[in-house]
Amino acid sequence: MLASSLLATYCTELHDDQAHKVDKYLQCFQLSDETLMDVSIRFRREMDKGLCRDTNPTAAVKMLPTFVRSTPDGTEQGEFLSLDLGGATFRVLLVKVMGNDEQKVEMENQIYAIPEHIMRGSGSEVGKLFVGAIKHLQFKYNTHTMLKMNPSVLLSWTKGFRLSGVEGKDVVSLLRESIKKRGDFDIDIVAVINDTVGAMMTCGYDDHNCEIGLIVGTGTNACYMEQMRNLELLDGDEGRMCVNTEWGAFGDDGALEDLRTDIDREIDAGSLNPGKQLFEKMISGMYMGELVRLILVRMAKEQLLFQGKTTAELLTTGSFSTNYIYAIENDKLEGLASTEKVLRDLGLDLSLEDCIVTQRVCQIVSTRAAHLCAATLAAVLRQIRDNKAAEKLRTTIGVDGSVYKNHPEFSRRLHKMVRRLVPDCDVRFLQSQYGSGKGAAMVTAVAYRLATQHAERQRILNTLRLSRAQLLDVKERVRKEMVRGLSKQTHEQASVKMLPTYVRSTPDGTEHGDFLALDLGGSSFRVLLVQVRSGKRHKVDMHQKIYSIPQEIMQGTGEELFNHIVHCISDFLEYMGMKGASLPLGFTFSFPCHQNRLDQGILLKWTKGFKATGCEGEDVVMLLKDAVRRKQDFDLNFVAMVNDTVGTMISCGYEDPKCEVGLIVGTGTNVCYMEDMKNIELVEGDDGHMCVNMEWGAFGDSGELDDFCTQFDHMVDASSNYPGKQRYEKMISGMYLGEIVRNVLIDFTAKGLLFRGKLSERLKTRGIFETKFLSQIERDHLAMRQVRSILQHLGLTSSTCDDSVLVKEVCTVVARRAAQLCGAGLAAVVEKIRENRNLNHLSVTVGVDGTLYKMHPHFSSVVQETLQDLAPQCQVTFHKSEDGSGKGAALITAVACRIQNGGQH
Ligand code: ADP
Repeated sequence: MLASSLLATYCTELHDDQAHKVDKYLQCFQLSDETLMDVSIRFRREMDKGLCRDTNPTAAVKMLPTFVRSTPDGTEQGEFLSLDLGGATFRVLLVKVMGNDEQKVEMENQIYAIPEHIMRGSGSEVGKLFVGAIKHLQFKYNTHTMLKMNPSVLLSWTKGFRLSGVEGKDVVSLLRESIKKRGDFDIDIVAVINDTVGAMMTCGYDDHNCEIGLIVGTGTNACYMEQMRNLELLDGDEGRMCVNTEWGAFGDDGALEDLRTDIDREIDAGSLNPGKQLFEKMISGMYMGELVRLILVRMAKEQLLFQGKTTAELLTTGSFSTNYIYAIENDKLEGLASTEKVLRDLGLDLSLEDCIVTQRVCQIVSTRAAHLCAATLAAVLRQIRDNKAAEKLRTTIGVDGSVYKNHPEFSRRLHKMVRRLVPDCDVRFLQSQYGSGKGAAMVTAVAYRLATQHAERQRILNTLRLSRAQLLDVKERVRKEMVRGLSKQTHEQASVKMLPTYVRSTPDGTEHGDFLALDLGGSSFRVLLVQVRSGKRHKVDMHQKIYSIPQEIMQGTGEELFNHIVHCISDFLEYMGMKGASLPLGFTFSFPCHQNRLDQGILLKWTKGFKATGCEGEDVVMLLKDAVRRKQDFDLNFVAMVNDTVGTMISCGYEDPKCEVGLIVGTGTNVCYMEDMKNIELVEGDDGHMCVNMEWGAFGDSGELDDFCTQFDHMVDASSNYPGKQRYEKMISGMYLGEIVRNVLIDFTAKGLLFRGKLSERLKTRGIFETKFLSQIERDHLAMRQVRSILQHLGLTSSTCDDSVLVKEVCTVVARRAAQLCGAGLAAVVEKIRENRNLNHLSVTVGVDGTLYKMHPHFSSVVQETLQDLAPQCQVTFHKSEDGSGKGAALITAVACRIQNGGQH
């Protein structure tokens, strides 16, 4: 033996000397950082090619979808049978997943040999063998109860086990057929997975950040969680799916030709599958020993080793096992001793120099393997990082395979190079413990969890989904309430009040002058100066100032509220330098009022956020006049009071004479439209039209929506300012949609269907989930970035990708229902107008305002779709109001002034 301390010193010097010689000879095996980065970039391109529909058929790297859509979250549970095929044996595992806090997995397993004749034989014989083994296990562990319960069998299909004519899914049907033939038990086969997925899922159970699986063993391959939207081969854009890269085939289209050496070509030429798996052949355990052997032979032939001699053993294919490399690359001296033994066993006569050279050859070959793996892994990491649009990625890689586990230096070299190639990724490598058997069980456990959770979530979400029949019902019921609200006899009991507005005509374009307008909406107060110029071009100039109304004033006394309003008006007049001028004034007041004249409005009840005392039952115009009098600062010439729907309709009508409906979907929701005078029984006279303010938000207050209301609607209603009131509005408008979503999310979390069952304190706060989030979330196409940042803002920092997908679905369902309900109500309105006029076909315009309608990415289109479906005889155009309802109030004031001054109408 060569081990002694003297020798050690000698060795070191000799070693450096020899190593230098070999390095020079094997230069083409040593890849610089730049080259590796280039390989990484090439591989990223190959990944793209495999993912894209058009290029996939010709791509070398196939990027196969695995249908595994989620990694474990720790809540999985159940018992699973797993079949693990590999080499000449197969294992049957019984895996018990405990779930929840225990996070424990218990396994029993039995290994069966697959006799040579069966391995080479027909599929059905293998099937018989499997089934026999399962039966055997069933008796051994007394699991027949479990088998009766339809447990699942999983197959992991690893390298080296190749049956003629049996690949992939065929294994499943093979097994199914065999089970059916026996006929004495039944098993549900859930998943066929490959070993990369097994490694990812096994490690994923212990580390929920695990989203990559890597194998470096007999073969090499990797899988990772890809965004569905990048997987063009499959439909669907949301969520993720594990992609099996099959990266062993990288280079099969020539992409690595400049890096492949003569030795690589020689290995390939002598392999069972020439031209295939070229990347794998540079790396994996199946070829590593052979690469070394071929180099040694070549060096011997060139007189660089063994004094130019070879032996029959050394010349035999496969005689240099990859296992030798593990021993040779051990610590220097121990490694040298192993080298000597290996070479002597090959019948070689050798010197110390030969040993050192051989050791160096092994180092170079295995280092190249580790570095090439690092290059492709770096590409995968960058893909994931870009998908998440994260600056710094924190992730875990589950690894399995004999080379990775048994080679003394491979893992260290791999880790080091990955960190060099992607310094901005914080990567953890986790060794897979129980092989792919446990991984296969995890795949099923996750699939079962997903399936059960999915069914439960859909059951809940379905209560928020409305069928066409239900929407038709809503339309009919709204229509009925409209008639009841208009009729003198039933008006008192009707939930939809159908209030006359005394607006009988729309502007004809001859109006002109300067007007003051006030606009009290759900969240702000505006004062405007509107200058109307007559003439063809309908020119209107506006100056306005927006004032906020503090919460304490909204909910204080009426006197305080109107004092505040007068204060704002005074400020505006001052600002405009118009203190002395007493201009005609129009007032947009977006709450239900009873009117007997245009310049009067008795507040029936507050809605939205308002609750100021002493106003209900009072004439709002009087309250305002009183407040002006108290202030003794300026005077107002009060002409018209209108609702915001009316303001919107008039304002749009100024440009589009077909506009006869006004719709608001903002803080609250409401509609007005031009009704025939003869149908408005509360107002004398049968000629012409009058605009009716429906106050449709109150639809449902007599129970008309009870059969559609969900537990979430009841919760939102119960915690609102006026329980039992404005039921329709509470299912539609901006003040409530976020609250509905928040309640659904809380319920899902409590049931363990979201956020791993953990509720954040913030989400418990009323109003914290703003309706504008619904718009932001639905507009989100970029890797759910918005969703994640919103969830983070809500204190849900550890939410997963699946959580984001679900939150988005909840938002979609809630907003869609709101828009459909709104569309169904509108269908009742336009149908009524059509029938009033005995028309087969009505063409009408709806003037719309409100932030929800305008800002939500799908709300308006769903309203329009529903309307078209439920009122096919009406052609409805929607006109978004640009100028707000203040302009409308001023125009009505202008019309009133024109008529007062004897203008024709
Ligand atoms: P108002 O109805 O009070 O006159 P708006 O029309 O501006 O006022 O509506 C305010 C409502 O719109 C609020 O309830 C708010 O939740 C909602 N909202 C605000 N921004 C958005 C958005 N981007 N998408 C959907 N809804 C929004």
